[in-house]
Amino acid sequence: MRGGNLDPREEPEKLACAMSANAVAFIQGELLPETAARFVRHLDECAHCRDEVRGASEVLGRLAALPEPCEEIDLAPRVMTAFARALATESARRTRRLRALSGAVAALVLAAAALAWLRVPGRTNAPAEPAPPPAAPAAPATVGASAGATADALLWLARAQEPSGAWSASRWGGRPEYDIALTGLALLALLNDATEAAPTEGRDAATPRAARERARAYLLSTQGSDGRFGPEFAAAPYNHSIAAVALIESFGCSPEESLRAPIDRALAYICATQSPAGGWGYLGSPGEEPNTALTCWPLQALVLARALGRPGLDDAVRGGFAHLARVADARGRLGYRRAGDFLYGEDTLAPMGALCVLLARDASPLPRDVRARLLDTVMLAGVARKNGGDLYRDFFLTAALEALPPGRGARVPEDALRALAARQVRAGAERGSWEPRDRWGSAGGRVYVTSVAALILTAGERAERLSRWAARS
Ligand SMILES: [Zn+2]
Repeated sequence: MRGGNLDPREEPEKLACAMSANAVAFIQGELLPETAARFVRHLDECAHCRDEVRGASEVLGRLAALPEPCEEIDLAPRVMTAFARALATESARRTRRLRALSGAVAALVLAAAALAWLRVPGRTNAPAEPAPPPAAPAAPATVGASAGATADALLWLARAQEPSGAWSASRWGGRPEYDIALTGLALLALLNDATEAAPTEGRDAATPRAARERARAYLLSTQGSDGRFGPEFAAAPYNHSIAAVALIESFGCSPEESLRAPIDRALAYICATQSPAGGWGYLGSPGEEPNTALTCWPLQALVLARALGRPGLDDAVRGGFAHLARVADARGRLGYRRAGDFLYGEDTLAPMGALCVLLARDASPLPRDVRARLLDTVMLAGVARKNGGDLYRDFFLTAALEALPPGRGARVPEDALRALAARQVRAGAERGSWEPRDRWGSAGGRVYVTSVAALILTAGERAERLSRWAARS
C-alpha cells in the first residue's frame, strides 16, 4: 500500500507541473529562446501548463486592455488566486518581476472595482450606445507602429496593378494561375486605406481608391455563367473564394447595387461545389476529399455574406462548420483532411478556422467544447510569437487574435508588427513592398507578400469592421 499523500487524486496541487512556473515569463517574452522553445513543445503535451498560460494571458490581456470597461466583476479573486500560485516560485528574477506585476494587478483590481461601481447606475437604463470597437485599445499602437508602412504598401500595390485591374503574379515572381486570388488579396488589403477621407486625385491616378475600383471591375469580368471567378482547374476554388471574400467585404464597405447580383452568383457557385460532407476541396478529381485549407475561404465568404444580410446560407454555413468539427482534435488543432492530419503543418489551419468561428459569432454551429479549444489554440499561438517565416499563417493568426472578444487573452504584439514594418523595402522602385521570402513567396510573389503584410499591419482595423458586421447579424 502506497503512502496516501502521494496519491494524485488527493494532492493535485503538489503534483501540478513544475514547468508551469514558466507561464508568466513565457507570455511576457522573457524566457531565453531555447527555454521558450522547450516550453512550447511541452505545452503540446501538458494540459496543466496550457491552463496556466491561458489564465495568466487572460490576466495580462485585461491589464493591457485597461481602461476599457471591465466586463467581469469577479476578476479580483481570480487574479489574486493566480498570483498566490505564481508567487510560490523561488527565482529572484521572477520575484522581482512579479512584484512589479502585482503592483499593476493591484491597480487593475482597483480599476475594476471602480468601473464596476461607475457602471452600476446607468447599467440597465442607459441608451443603447454603440459598443466601443473591440480592437480600439490596440489601434493606437498598431497605427503608431505601422501607419506609414501601410500607406507605402498600398501605394506600391496601386502602382503595381495592371491596366486590366488585375495583379500579375508572374510579373512579380509568383505563379500565373493565381492572378485572381492575388487580385482578391490585394483588394482586401486596399480596403484598409487609412487615407480614405483624403480627396481623391482622380480615377486615373494610382491611388488606393482607384485601384480598388479597377480591381473590382476586373474580378467581375472574370465571372463565368456558373458564377465562378476565373478558369476551371483543380485549384480554381482558391481563386474563386478569395475573390468572393474580397468582393463581399468590398460590398460591406461601400454597398454598390451592381455588386449584388454577381455576389449572389458567386455564393451560388460556392454552395454548388460544397461536398456532401460539408467542406470544400480541389475540383475535378472524383472522390476528392474536402480539406480545411480550402474550406475556410468559402466558409468565410458565406459567413461574411450572411452577416451582411444575405439570406439562405445557413445550411451551407452549417456544413462548413461540420467539416471543422470533424477535423478538430482534442487539443483544438484542425487537421487538413481529418483530425491529426497535418500535411502542410498545423499552424495555419486553426487560425483560419477560428476566424470563421469568430466572424460567425454565437451562430457558429461548432460544439461548445470544440469552439473553446480552438480559440485557446489560437490564443496560445499568439502568445508564442513565432516569427515571421510564414506571413500567410500570420495573416490568419492576427485576424483571429484581433477578432477575439475583448479581455480574452492575447493581442497582436506590437513588436511583431514593428519587426514586419522594419522588413519593408524602403527605397527604390519597390519601395513599400516586401521581398517575397516567406514560406509561400515563390508561389505568390511580391504582390502576395505585400498584400498579406499590409493585411497584418491593418488587422485591428479590419477586425473592427468585420466584428461590427458580425454583431449585426
Ligand atoms: Zn506542464
